[in-house]
Amino acid sequence: MFDLLIRQARVEGYEQPVDVAVKDGMIVQIQNKIEGQAGQEIEAKGMFLAPGFVDTHTHLEKALTGEGVEVNSLVEAIATFKKGYAKITKEDFIARGKKVVEMAVKNGTTALRTHIYVDTVIGTRAIEAILEVKRQVKNLIDLQIVAMPTNNAYVIDDELLKLTEKAIGLGVDLLGGAPHLSEKPREYIDTIFDLALKNNLPIDFHVDESDEPEVTTLDYIAEKTIATGMEGKVTAGHCTSLAAVSDKIAEKVIAQCAEAGLHIVTLPSCNLYLMGRKDKQPIRRGVTRVKDFLKAGVNIAYASDNIRDPFRPYGNADMLEEGLLTAQVLQMGTPSELETVFRMGTYNPAKILGLKNYGTKVGCKADLVLLEAASPSEALISQATKAYVFKNGKPVAKTIKQQILL
Ligand SMILES: [Zn+2]
Repeated sequence: MFDLLIRQARVEGYEQPVDVAVKDGMIVQIQNKIEGQAGQEIEAKGMFLAPGFVDTHTHLEKALTGEGVEVNSLVEAIATFKKGYAKITKEDFIARGKKVVEMAVKNGTTALRTHIYVDTVIGTRAIEAILEVKRQVKNLIDLQIVAMPTNNAYVIDDELLKLTEKAIGLGVDLLGGAPHLSEKPREYIDTIFDLALKNNLPIDFHVDESDEPEVTTLDYIAEKTIATGMEGKVTAGHCTSLAAVSDKIAEKVIAQCAEAGLHIVTLPSCNLYLMGRKDKQPIRRGVTRVKDFLKAGVNIAYASDNIRDPFRPYGNADMLEEGLLTAQVLQMGTPSELETVFRMGTYNPAKILGLKNYGTKVGCKADLVLLEAASPSEALISQATKAYVFKNGKPVAKTIKQQILL
């Protein structure tokens, strides 16, 4: 007896729709027709069964604080959030964090990484809150928490170091930060690498989030990754200044990233909103060189970033929505290019998060989303309904499609 049987779903690698059997949270059989019974049967009727989306870069402690806020740059957005955040209670962090997780789950996301501030104003209060969210939603989503040490100068002094060590002790999954904003970027990067090595934690930085034509930290992060043997364990988000430098410089830095096994995350929506604000026409897009990274064999994903906060007033924690925007901005429109974009929201970020047994093959974890579309490209273009979302083989969300009644 199976726990779950999904009948007649389209699955990558199969020409025709197939039956998919799940037991103990794993895919145990895929065949044209599976005999046998299950606790629950779902008729997919040719819908596309994909692995759950993986949103590898979000900010749960900031999300849903942006109503009515107007800002004109990244620096203004940071200042605006920091103006009010001393008063945010742990309960408020938890409530908003859970709300975003629920939005993400309904939209088919089964794993999510979030960057959370650690600093002298709120200490580790936001970290503690989101760790509590992680405990409360563990049956819905895999949540990874990145400690992001900040202060006005972005310098990790003794006080900030102690708080960061406290966050590590509380059980964060990774270390990060925004060294390009630091008065001493290299020292910042060195300290994070030291802490990461000492505590055996991976790293996920905000990198060169600027529209100025200068790579200030990405090349050093690549160098440092190789020097410390941390290949495959370091992620760089944004990297927008790479779009402003010459092709020659970009080529050199991207080759360094490939050599260092860096993972790259592009955040088009937030970057389009915040970058290029001082430009008259033409306005720069502020999106990193995704196609060049893909060509160089670098693992690259897209993600939501900020969701309805001072950094970006939009967002539904919906990877299909972010994916379509990514495809449009990157001018990727053929079926195979759209498939690449779809993988940038599924398999590529799964690799970044280090998810084991991810996918839709026998032996994979049944963290899945059933999309009302026949293919990944159709799912992106049509913004497919997420008919069912499964976590550990159990349905956790269901959407009934709107229908014409007459
Ligand atoms: Zn971010």
